[in-house]
Amino acid sequence: MTIQHPYLQNLFADIQKRNANEPEFLQAVAEVFSSLEVVAYKRPDLLEAGIFDRIVEPERMISFRVAWVDDANTVRVNRGYRVQFNSALGPYKGGIRFHPSVNASIIKFLGFEQIFKNSLTGLLLGGGKGGADFDPKGKSDGEVMRFCQAFMTELARHIGAHTDVPAGDIGVGAREIGFLFGQYKRLQNEFTGVLTGKGLTYGGSLVRKEATGYGLCYFVQEMLASKGTSLAGKRVVISGSGNVAIYAAEKATALGACVIALSDSSGYIVDPKGVNLAVIKEIKEVRRGRISEYTQYVPHAEYHPGFGIWNVPCDVALPCATQNELHGEDAAVLVKNGCIAVAEGANMPCTPEAVDIFHENGILFAPGKASNAGGVATSGLEMAQNASFLSWSFEEVDCRLQQIMKNIYKNCRKAAEDYGCGDNLVAGANIAGFLKVAEAMLAQGVF
Ligand code: GLU
Repeated sequence: MTIQHPYLQNLFADIQKRNANEPEFLQAVAEVFSSLEVVAYKRPDLLEAGIFDRIVEPERMISFRVAWVDDANTVRVNRGYRVQFNSALGPYKGGIRFHPSVNASIIKFLGFEQIFKNSLTGLLLGGGKGGADFDPKGKSDGEVMRFCQAFMTELARHIGAHTDVPAGDIGVGAREIGFLFGQYKRLQNEFTGVLTGKGLTYGGSLVRKEATGYGLCYFVQEMLASKGTSLAGKRVVISGSGNVAIYAAEKATALGACVIALSDSSGYIVDPKGVNLAVIKEIKEVRRGRISEYTQYVPHAEYHPGFGIWNVPCDVALPCATQNELHGEDAAVLVKNGCIAVAEGANMPCTPEAVDIFHENGILFAPGKASNAGGVATSGLEMAQNASFLSWSFEEVDCRLQQIMKNIYKNCRKAAEDYGCGDNLVAGANIAGFLKVAEAMLAQGVF
């Protein structure tokens, strides 16, 4: 990935200096900038207005202490973050991640990606992201509740239904959103749509839980249709076994694919007959267990410890676990095994080397900011329902989600074509996502 445009090259060198210890953030900026060179050549007005210089600097970055007491009565301290990256298109919007790896670099890369992803949805959503280096693994419900309450006690003053609307991400699901919402309501004495991904009894939207995974498959269908094929009869490998992976597997299966592998951070399972999703949901959603337990329920399946899931031969690969989980070597193996399409369900799961290999070998490749946008898009639909004090049927939300994913695909293809990038969806997503934000920033004056 090289940046040749002199202005962007200089700017990127400066960004490297100012964010020296933030490799994931620099990786995300480098990817976006290399796609935007064609825009920089065509649109000198955007350079003059300092749009590129401004878009890489968060409007606000908050870091705070989260102190709580564990079940053994020991005081514990974690670090919380919220990056309010860009509000040109709407209130800051993006998830909260609880994972021990969370740091400023990861929150900033996620917040940066979120700007363009949210723009692609066509809804009025700015970009933000948050989290903490808290590890929910092995914690009791009481510990998770006290942590969430402590986290929200600080965050509450920075967010609001028209200011910043967080949601879930890795380690933050329905349970955590419930605790966070309860604490916000207690502090502000206000029942508003300040969080999305809420439970259905208190303002959540139907389809939100399924939306990222379903949306990913709707996007893959569009991509495959461009080559005259579909998910029907395809062998699909999906990394991860969290919310995105489970509902990607559910929709892929409903569309006639055979999902043969899933993973977690310890290893992966292979079930050549197609994974039994009732079992996966029981293990992951009900018991919060490990994927290795699958073989206790399904004896013909295999469990392999370690990160080798990309060695399982497949037609379609859906990385749905976490950033930088699919490397150049994995991409080469997928190519060798005849894989025809890769679509990111996680945020930036494929390294730049892996993406290059997919492009060089003519593999259909969908970047997460386009293909996983169904989650945040449905959050936008949850906000719309909350604002009108109504709730829509499953069919209505699902139908809107499908339409949004189709439009994202169409707009990415068109932007790539308009700027001479062929059918490169990475370029298309970055260009289409960026241009809408850039026009809004131009109109709103220097900020
Ligand atoms: N965390 C999800 C994402 O990466 C969803 C964010 C949201 O719904 O606000 O897009």
